[in-house]
Amino acid sequence: NATINKIAAGEVIERPASVVKELVENSLDAEATSIKVEITSDNNGIAKIRISDDGYGMDADSALISFSRHATSKISKISDLYEISTMGFRGEALASIAAVSKVTMITKQRTLEPSPGTKIVIEGGDVVEQSPVSAPDGTSIFVEKLFFNTPVRKKFLKSVKTEFTHIFRVVEEASLANSGISFQLLHNGKVSLSTGKSGSVLDTITYVYGTEYAKEMIPVKSLQTFMKVDGFCAPPSLDAPNSRKIIISVNNRPVYSLPLVQAVKRAYGTLLPRERYPVCFLNIRIDRKVVDVNVHPAKKEVRFSREKEITEEIVASVREALDSRNL
Ligand code: ADP
Ligand code: MG
Repeated sequence: NATINKIAAGEVIERPASVVKELVENSLDAEATSIKVEITSDNNGIAKIRISDDGYGMDADSALISFSRHATSKISKISDLYEISTMGFRGEALASIAAVSKVTMITKQRTLEPSPGTKIVIEGGDVVEQSPVSAPDGTSIFVEKLFFNTPVRKKFLKSVKTEFTHIFRVVEEASLANSGISFQLLHNGKVSLSTGKSGSVLDTITYVYGTEYAKEMIPVKSLQTFMKVDGFCAPPSLDAPNSRKIIISVNNRPVYSLPLVQAVKRAYGTLLPRERYPVCFLNIRIDRKVVDVNVHPAKKEVRFSREKEITEEIVASVREALDSRNL
């Protein structure tokens, strides 16, 4: 139902950056090794968004089904919800995006024998074209006319600069959380971020913020075995390259968790004035059972069942890193 889809879309798709976030997550779930995000803007705002990946793609049937609400190939039994290993699981993103824009998807499944790709065009939730096409393995999704049928939402969008900053953050966080995957972000054809896929977080920091910045970073490693921390923190004197300072991912998912941010801040103690936050990039690996990602439709906020142990381990490992430099 078109109305329900439009309302539900509002929860997941707030702004252009939400589109980018959902589509990048889908590419990650499709085991892409390389993800390209192309943004086109004009005087009226962010006009077009294209995400291309080299992931496993979809056959013609799955491609069509992927746009229906609660179509997810990722959860098959209810217990899966408690041990989520994929970025997506609600089956809402594509249906929501398609409800409020015009989407052109070109996808081709990785197969041994030659097979055709599929092109699907959906506008405001209605399929207007479906045809076989020749295409490389993987999926590309082109979104235009975003919020064309929800004028109120459109009115609340900020300037191109602000919306692009949100998009940049999404790709920045995704690339730091997935250093084994190469990301590219282009704005009106100009490269804004480009990473390799070496698997080293420090390499990603170098790609995103530059060599000089990366040189200052201090490695952070976990001390306990129940969780693995792999990251880098900056000496207190180093300021953030942009407004984001603490970026944390849990099992490759960029997350927002106030207790974890406060733990990092606590580790610096009196090295920083009260109102200043340090620069710190942490990737955490932990048993999926202790992480609840199903708190919010956008899946950004997470909760932990062993929060105290986790925050204490963060404080200890960041402090150990700072101590190693006699800070
Ligand atoms: P979810 O990610 O929660 O399953 P989505 O609406 O984001 O829901 O996507 C619906 C389905 O479409 C996915 O479960 C997946 O099977 C398929 N899909 C979406 N994007 C891609 C992609 N880039 N490559 C392969 N399959 C995809
Ligand atoms: Mg998804």
